[in-house]
Amino acid sequence: MKNIVLFGPPGAGKGTQAEVLKEKYQLVHISTGDVFRYNIKNETELGALAKSYMDKGHLVPDEVTIKMLNAEVEKNPEANGFIFDGFPRTEAQAEALSELMDEKGSQINAMVALEVDDEVLVGRLIERGKSSGRADDANEEVIRERIAEYYRKTDILKSYYQAQDKYYGVDGVGSIEEITERLSEVFDRI
Ligand code: AMP
Repeated sequence: MKNIVLFGPPGAGKGTQAEVLKEKYQLVHISTGDVFRYNIKNETELGALAKSYMDKGHLVPDEVTIKMLNAEVEKNPEANGFIFDGFPRTEAQAEALSELMDEKGSQINAMVALEVDDEVLVGRLIERGKSSGRADDANEEVIRERIAEYYRKTDILKSYYQAQDKYYGVDGVGSIEEITERLSEVFDRI
C-alpha cells in the first residue's frame, strides 16, 4: 500500500492535485473537507456540527474528525492506498492516523507538502471564492483565519513527519501540470 498525506495550507492546491494523482497512481482520495461539505449539503447532524466551525475558519474538533476519517477508510477495504487531503491537521489526528494504518498492517509512507506563500494563498482563495460556492472562500477574514488556524495547529506536523524522515516539500507555484510533475517525482520514489 502507498499511503500519502498531501499537505499544505488552504489554497495550496491539494484538492486539485489529488484529483489528478489518484487516477495516475490508482489511490483512493479522501478529503475531509469534501466529506464535511457533503454532510452539510445533505443536512446531516455531522454537517450541522461541522458547519459551525467551518464558517468561522476554525478546525472541526479532533474527536469528530477522526471518527469520520476512520469510517471513510473502512469504506475502502480493497484500496491500493490512500491520498489523505486535509487530514491530519493536528498532532492528535496524526497519531490517530498512524494507529489506524498500524491496524491495517500498513503505514503512512510520506507527507508531501505543497509550499506556497501566504499572500499567494489569499489571492487564490479569493479567486476560487468567485466560483466555488464555498462559504469559507467568500470572505477574506475567514480565509485569513483559516491560514492562521493552519499556523496554530497544523504547520507543526511538518516536524512530526520530518522526525520520521517522511517529509517531502514541493514548490506549489506554477501550472497544474508542472506541479503534478514535481509531485510525481516524489510519488515515484516512495
Ligand atoms: P478544506 O476543504 O480541507 O479546506 O477544509 C475546509 C474546512 O473543513 C476547514 O477549514 C475545517 O473547518 C474543516 N476541516 C477539514 N478537514 C479537517 C480536519 N482534518 N480537521 C479539522 N477540521 C477540518
